[in-house]
Amino acid sequence: MRTGLSKDLIARVLGAAPKYTLDELEAKFPPRNLPDGAFVTRFAPSPTGFMHIGNLYSVLIDYKFAQQSKGVFMLRIEDTDTKREVQGAVDVVKSAMHNFGFVYNNDEVYGPYYQSQRKDIYHSVAAHLLATGRAYPCFLSAEDMDEIREKQKAAGFATGIYGEFARDRDITEEEIIAYLDKGLVPSIRLYSMGNPEQRIFCKDAVRGSIGFPESNEDIVLIKSNDGLPTYHFAHLCDDHFMHTTHVVRGEEWLPSLPLHYQLFRMMEWVPPIYIHTATLDKIDAESGKQRKMSKRKDPEANVAFFLQEGWPTDAVIEYLGNILASGYEEAKMKGQVKSFWDYEMRPKKIPMSGALFDMKKLEWWAKEFIGSLPVSELVARVVAWANEYGTDTNKMQVADVKYLTGVLGIERDNPKRVRKDFITWSQTLENVAFFWDELFVPNAEYEFNSDALREFLATYNESDDKDTWWAKIVAVADKTGLKNGDVAMNLRVALSGRTNTPDLYSIMTVMGGERVIKRIEGAIK
Ligand code: GLU
Repeated sequence: MRTGLSKDLIARVLGAAPKYTLDELEAKFPPRNLPDGAFVTRFAPSPTGFMHIGNLYSVLIDYKFAQQSKGVFMLRIEDTDTKREVQGAVDVVKSAMHNFGFVYNNDEVYGPYYQSQRKDIYHSVAAHLLATGRAYPCFLSAEDMDEIREKQKAAGFATGIYGEFARDRDITEEEIIAYLDKGLVPSIRLYSMGNPEQRIFCKDAVRGSIGFPESNEDIVLIKSNDGLPTYHFAHLCDDHFMHTTHVVRGEEWLPSLPLHYQLFRMMEWVPPIYIHTATLDKIDAESGKQRKMSKRKDPEANVAFFLQEGWPTDAVIEYLGNILASGYEEAKMKGQVKSFWDYEMRPKKIPMSGALFDMKKLEWWAKEFIGSLPVSELVARVVAWANEYGTDTNKMQVADVKYLTGVLGIERDNPKRVRKDFITWSQTLENVAFFWDELFVPNAEYEFNSDALREFLATYNESDDKDTWWAKIVAVADKTGLKNGDVAMNLRVALSGRTNTPDLYSIMTVMGGERVIKRIEGAIK
């Protein structure tokens, strides 16, 4: 520790006297009143305008643990990087949360939930550190730091501000005043007590205890340009005062873990339990090898992709849940649980590395999920998607909900044999496009038997029940010498343009007499 600064100097260094003492902060953010074992988790995105599928994966962990333990899940916006601010970026996060059904409970008592609005809190903690000699004002300029870095590189040392390279580490009050009088604004740095020769053991709920060399970096706590905290310092203050019990974050933060442990120890605060998640991989289409998903190359790295393409959000969640908890699929197949929300998940089961996100597998979950929906639900979801994300064609298809309900209701009445050829909402509409005259493409290759079609039309009655309808097809077959199946195939292709469709009788019933006659006549010509 170094000598602490006087109250007046702290106020000058920070630009204002701190608003709270540590005790006042503790009183302002009292322990939460929650059942034993309740998880308090948070999703803490930096609003970049892009939500990665990996973010959704970690939100699912946060949310699931909070939900299953009757705890709390928060959304905290980490907007302390004013240089990287993007317009509308918070909306991207909020709309994804909404669309995927992640409801957060941002209790006012522990707010605000935008870090840019929590400056008073960070400055108050920083003031405490300045007063107790655990932090100091640093007046190094960008040029000074460049110079230091060059020197360190040339000498083969680790870069950063530490030890002998931390010029202002033991700065005196007089020197500080002289700098301030010149109008310079300092950053506030940690006075690190770490020694890289020593090891610190940190806990990760998935990986267990991990030993690291201690960090001796005098990291920046408060930045000079805007007075906002760095991630390290904001995380310390926020997760303490918000009473976060579990921090779920990407494995890229693992190297910072010793530093974060040191910060909590310095404050005599209990660190949260950390869960560092593996980055999501995919199988590269060209090389066939497993690799990280790339924001640049892979459209599915972007959460917005799933919404735009109309992937059922529940299926995405189910699949991510299965990546997280490998036993889930089996429990579901055995009928032990209905959805991921009923499945008891344990931190230890979360994969440590190589979590594979495979679009083909997602397809399976999507088909299963859509297959499980009652037709009214299916229609509601398709309509909602088309109206928000669909093309004009999609919008036209959903305009007549009664017709759409008929179309999508085909082969859904027997729960044991539900059709499983719908994957996304957009593909669903494309799959049934032939039902709309504007979208129907007659089959120019198929060689129709005009006699059979004519014979069928002669006896066709749109109110025939299925048996009568079939008897008429058999009669046409007898008359024309075709097989029953050939007659049906002629009708199928005439009506849909396709040789493969769901139940033909249902198709004709939904299309209605007028459309059926028109299409068969079209095929005869
Ligand atoms: N803002 C940090 C990030 O986006 C949050 C990490 C954390 O969850 O603590 O990576």
